[in-house]
Amino acid sequence: MYKQLTTDKENMELLLHSVQQLAVQRFQNIDSIPAAAKPQNVQNYSLPEEGLGAEAVLAQFQKEYQHLMCGSSGPRYWGYVTGGTTPASVLGDWLTTTFDQNTQSIEGRGDVSAILEKETIQLMLDFLELPKSFFGGFVTGATMSNFTCLGVARQWIGKNQGYDIARTGLQQPIQIAAGMPHSSVIKGIAMLGMGSTNIHKIPLLDGREALDIEQLEVFLQQNPSGEVILLSSAGTVNSVDFDDLKAISELKEKYNFWWHIDAAFGGLVACVDHKKHLVAGWENADSITVDCHKWFNIPYDNAVFFIQEKHQQRHIETFQNSNAPYLGNPMENFSYLNFLPENSRRFRALPVWFSLMAYGKKGHQEIVSRNIDLAQQLTNYIENSTIFKLVVPTRVNVVCFKVVNFSQKQQDAFLKTLNGRRKIFITASVYKGESCFRAAFVNWQTTQKDIAIAIEELEAIYHICTANE
Ligand SMILES: *Cc1c(COP(=O)(O)O)cnc(C)c1O
Repeated sequence: MYKQLTTDKENMELLLHSVQQLAVQRFQNIDSIPAAAKPQNVQNYSLPEEGLGAEAVLAQFQKEYQHLMCGSSGPRYWGYVTGGTTPASVLGDWLTTTFDQNTQSIEGRGDVSAILEKETIQLMLDFLELPKSFFGGFVTGATMSNFTCLGVARQWIGKNQGYDIARTGLQQPIQIAAGMPHSSVIKGIAMLGMGSTNIHKIPLLDGREALDIEQLEVFLQQNPSGEVILLSSAGTVNSVDFDDLKAISELKEKYNFWWHIDAAFGGLVACVDHKKHLVAGWENADSITVDCHKWFNIPYDNAVFFIQEKHQQRHIETFQNSNAPYLGNPMENFSYLNFLPENSRRFRALPVWFSLMAYGKKGHQEIVSRNIDLAQQLTNYIENSTIFKLVVPTRVNVVCFKVVNFSQKQQDAFLKTLNGRRKIFITASVYKGESCFRAAFVNWQTTQKDIAIAIEELEAIYHICTANE
């Protein structure tokens, strides 16, 4: 055995202890770690001929890279939709690495990790108040979840048209309808060979990011039964708007189409009494995407897909790893590798299982409803401010706003100064052609004091920007 492997193996206790100390420090100081990243020259190393050993590499990481990493899992990183990591989820994630299971099969090979993955899916369905008619699994993110769901949708359409797309490839264009699809859904359509320009945009309701149901019905009437994929949104990124899922669910009774819902973060409203009406009817979808590394606050990378079990045949046709005899017959021996894009994969369910078991329904509910309250607090401040104004009413947990009377150039300078001070981090966005600042609340550590810090910062920067005029 190579000498550094031998010494590292002997020193594992000490090495893990050092990493544990580092992690403890990071958790304890997350509040004061700058929220925004600073541009830096990053040190490059060439491949060492002789290995340095883990201790020296850890020291190098700490010296060169650690301080460059912003507090993206901390309480005031409000860019994109960036979740943190609950304590229990970190434990689960460490153990995923420690036990290093290749989570695949249940029957025959006694793979407890796959059994636990299935169990975790049941806990997620309970948490989201979805029926047990869904089958689910873990993938790297909502992008791959959308991809997985739409792969099965594509196969379903082909079967309705009398052919097997998995075997013969796409022979004719598929009709796809959407109101305000997330960029990753469009990417999924592109990756699946269905062609992003084939997405038929259903007009949106006035002043909304939700599709017009009447227009959707017209589209459904114009297309053959069983040959349309509908991409619907449960939580758009700017205004967190929801397509009328209840109405779509009623259309499902009249028309036969594949209904996919991208509920990457919006789906979490299902756990909050005063918001769950936004997802009413979603239980009748064919497939649903939910991210775990956003509002669930599980470490990257983690998401689930839910696909109705009645589509199992199409599901297997899409993903079966059929020409490896040693893996068994996909119809007889359950294995995740016949249901997912990946073959080998990590035990991604474990951190989710840890967090759901540690904090239960109430704990995760509290995170979601606190974030909604905090978004409302910032909204109330903006509505009462003469400096700032909302660009769109705050519907759930994202606040889009701007400085009253600032030019685009001034807005850009404002955001640059704000993020440059690194106390809070927010991103620029464009809502219906109007540029704005966007703050998204999904972190479990964010509290009222962070809103107070943000308000102080916003006012201070306004004064800096106007003093420079
Ligand atoms: C973030 C997001 C995605 C993509 O998710 P990843 O986890 O980054 O792959 C898809 N849809 C919506 C609505 C999102 O917010």
